[in-house]
Amino acid sequence: MSEAETAGERRQGGCLCGAVRYETAWPPLLTGVCHCRHCQKQAGTAFSVLVAVPFAALERTGELTTYEDGSEAGRPVLRKFCGTCGSPVFSETPDGMAQGMIFIKAGTLDNPDELEPTVHFWTTSKQNWVTLPEGAALLEKQ
Ligand SMILES: [Zn+2]
Ligand SMILES: [Zn+2]
Repeated sequence: MSEAETAGERRQGGCLCGAVRYETAWPPLLTGVCHCRHCQKQAGTAFSVLVAVPFAALERTGELTTYEDGSEAGRPVLRKFCGTCGSPVFSETPDGMAQGMIFIKAGTLDNPDELEPTVHFWTTSKQNWVTLPEGAALLEKQ
């Protein structure tokens, strides 16, 4: 871990039942919203809010269950969730891991304040009641 990472702010989070806990460097490298159908299904809601953080600076405790999913573009996505309460907590992709990044589902942060999503992915499948904010980068696909 570099000095910059150890010197920075850190945030904690975990699943609904508390069996899975984590601590991450903060602020995130990227905050985005994914409107893909897979995120809608997995979360049971309209979209996922994701923060990308450096994997090397992430500490995790507790047992995660992994669902080996594929993205809508056909690339592998490892969706990691708590097997007890079902909270989706992390997503890992080969592209992200190659850059040392892991994605945290932002709703699991103990303190989700000051999130500023700058990118919206898969806007082609967003639910029609969702209004996209002005100024954000919009990607029809991932
Ligand atoms: Zn749990
Ligand atoms: Zn998605």
